[in-house]
Amino acid sequence: MKSTIQFPRFDAELNTDVCDPMNNAELMLTLRLGFTQINPAAGAAEGTYHDYNRATAPTRKIIKWTDAAWTAWKENFVSTAQSFWTGKFWLVNDAGSFPFMARGGQTYIPNVWCRMKIVAQEGTATDNHHAIEVVRLHASESWFGSHERLYDSKDTNLVQKNTDSAGNRVMQRAHVHEVGHLLGLGHVDIGKAHCPASGNTNDAACYGIADDDMRSVMGSGMELRLEHAEPWREAIRAFSVAEAVMGIINPASLLLPLGRLMVGGNPLTAVWPAKMRRHYPRTPEEAAAGTLLTSPPRRAA
Ligand SMILES: [Zn+2]
Repeated sequence: MKSTIQFPRFDAELNTDVCDPMNNAELMLTLRLGFTQINPAAGAAEGTYHDYNRATAPTRKIIKWTDAAWTAWKENFVSTAQSFWTGKFWLVNDAGSFPFMARGGQTYIPNVWCRMKIVAQEGTATDNHHAIEVVRLHASESWFGSHERLYDSKDTNLVQKNTDSAGNRVMQRAHVHEVGHLLGLGHVDIGKAHCPASGNTNDAACYGIADDDMRSVMGSGMELRLEHAEPWREAIRAFSVAEAVMGIINPASLLLPLGRLMVGGNPLTAVWPAKMRRHYPRTPEEAAAGTLLTSPPRRAA
């Protein structure tokens, strides 16, 4: 069964049709991004644009987009950001949700594989989750002040953002960081003394002081961390509670209250811990015992 819940930042689709004793449910977050070109004024080939589109900020030289450059830029953006974020997390089902019966009558509790898809549309589409403007930088410009909704054409390039304590360069492709923001993630050090949540969370310190934090994709680097599974965890809790309250995901699960009790799971208090490696579906007994299956269990298919 496939069910969709619409969130402000993305659509979430849970697919339990793919479940079998070896394969988990799949949770796809789809972001529809509406891209709009920023071009030099009055149809000119070249012009200027302010960093952050802020009138008091410096200007950079920009050039007019061509159809070919626009298409190529969007395709590269989508494929590289998607491959960075999709398929990296598994959520362990401690809620006893979405039980299914395999051939032979054995019940299984699937875990959830976290996937992500970007749909690039024009800014004029009516169902965009996010609106993004893009300037095309002149060849002589290496930097532009971008933010979550204003990118430059070079934001897909890998560039140095910081230097760690050992003198190593910390590199990042800005667009994968920005997509993290679009998913709802904040900067790595938010909540620490040097980056209080009540202050300006775009301060340099918020991008990480310790080497480890600096290397996070929500800092200045390209590393994924378990906390970056939060958007998928938020979504799966909604599906899990909806199933428990209304039985809308898998009506058959309502016929399995004993299975639910055996797991000891409760959708309202479930944690759905994130893992960065595959975990296999469990029997209710395995789930109740907290057994984690990180290698393929020997089972009749
Ligand atoms: Zn940021």
